[in-house]
Amino acid sequence: MRKVYLDHAATTPLHPEVLALMCDFMRDTFGNPSSVHSFGREAKKFTQEARQKVADLIGAAPEEIYFTSGGTEADNIAIIGTAMARRKNGNHIITSAIEHHAVLDTFKYLAKNGFEVTLLPVDKYGMVDPDEVAGAIRKETTLVTIMHANNEIGTIQPIAEIGRIVREHGVVFHSDAVQTLTKIPVNVDDLGVGLLSLSAHKIYGPKGIGALYVRKGIRLQPIIHGGGQERKLRSGTENTPGIVGFGKAAEIGGRDMEQESKRVQGLRDKLIRRVLAEIPSVTLNGHPEQRLPNNANFSVAYVEGESLVLSLDLDGIAVSSGSACSSGSLQPSHVLTALGLPHEMMHGSLRMTLGRANSEEDIDYVVESLKGIVTRLRSFSPLAQPVRA
Ligand SMILES: *Cc1c(COP(=O)(O)O)cnc(C)c1O
Repeated sequence: MRKVYLDHAATTPLHPEVLALMCDFMRDTFGNPSSVHSFGREAKKFTQEARQKVADLIGAAPEEIYFTSGGTEADNIAIIGTAMARRKNGNHIITSAIEHHAVLDTFKYLAKNGFEVTLLPVDKYGMVDPDEVAGAIRKETTLVTIMHANNEIGTIQPIAEIGRIVREHGVVFHSDAVQTLTKIPVNVDDLGVGLLSLSAHKIYGPKGIGALYVRKGIRLQPIIHGGGQERKLRSGTENTPGIVGFGKAAEIGGRDMEQESKRVQGLRDKLIRRVLAEIPSVTLNGHPEQRLPNNANFSVAYVEGESLVLSLDLDGIAVSSGSACSSGSLQPSHVLTALGLPHEMMHGSLRMTLGRANSEEDIDYVVESLKGIVTRLRSFSPLAQPVRA
């Protein structure tokens, strides 16, 4: 059976060049980069080269890159680290309602621990209004964090504009760029961010490694204490194979971005066009233009997202749904809820995120499969039946 992976927003396979480099490195270079002997110095040299590559990809200086265990930890350090370091200046922090759980749940944690939290709404396309950000900032505000692009619906936020507003108020600005890295240009000066979260496994690098960009001059309180690695911000012996793999993935991703994003967007546009034209009562979620080139998110009326995911899986197609089955009831995700979709469109949501291995034939196969599945599932649904007089 044909296998089609359309879940690149969840994770990506290792790029073969990344795998090869990591294998060589793990075999030959086991030193601890903190050691002063030749073994340590060798490992240190590799991690510094990787740091340079990650820095180059986002227009930063290598000493502004702090390796973490992934995007989640980068978000936690950025948010908790800023909130705690600037606690004397105020206790108010701002984010949007559609952030990744790594941000939202960290905000919940801080709310339980004495911080005041504002969650900004989004419009029906998932856009944050920069004027709302301006209106929410108070004199006690110390941090604003808004994701660069959303992982479910792909909407790209006006980060540069928001950054300008936040900076004018002397507030620290963080953005989660896990989904945009190597898909669209991510440059820390163009975006005007002070802090930026990155993850390797969404860009064909290994799992368990990411980075936080920290602009020179921004102070953060560490949340992990110990040996003082990563210039005292993130203690713990470095994940050297992960770091080396991340560096390679960053280099390849930057090199291929323009061409690959264009190719993938062509396939994605065809997927959207065909699904909307050939399957009735389907809508596209997210912004029609300001969206990640590899993201399609549909609502299919009268069917459950989970049923679609499972049926597609039987045809070898891997996608995800914005509904999570909890305690017997299908709850739509916080992102789809924030869009204010009509009830019947909230439950049959389907996220397809494309990547390097996908081809024209994959798209044709997926559309044909989905057509058959939707027809079959709807034949069981009383809501989907034409009303008879
Ligand atoms: C995947 C993801 C994360 C989490 O990154 P990990 O490296 O898996 O911890 C954070 N934010 C966004 C937007 C993501 O898509």
